[in-house]
Amino acid sequence: MAFDKKLLEIVACPVCKGKLEYNKDAQQLICKADKLVYPINDGIPVLLENKAEPLVE
Ligand SMILES: [Zn+2]
Repeated sequence: MAFDKKLLEIVACPVCKGKLEYNKDAQQLICKADKLVYPINDGIPVLLENKAEPLVE
């Protein structure tokens, strides 16, 4: 199931409440402010700090 881009308007980073960027290829949501990557499982973003991975640039 694909992630619905409309969700981007309502989801926010649980840490800083900021906007998230959608990485379509990796199926991830990225918080640039916190440098955290949140996974998307079956189209559902997992917005949990303890599930996030550090953003590698
Ligand atoms: Zn954040």
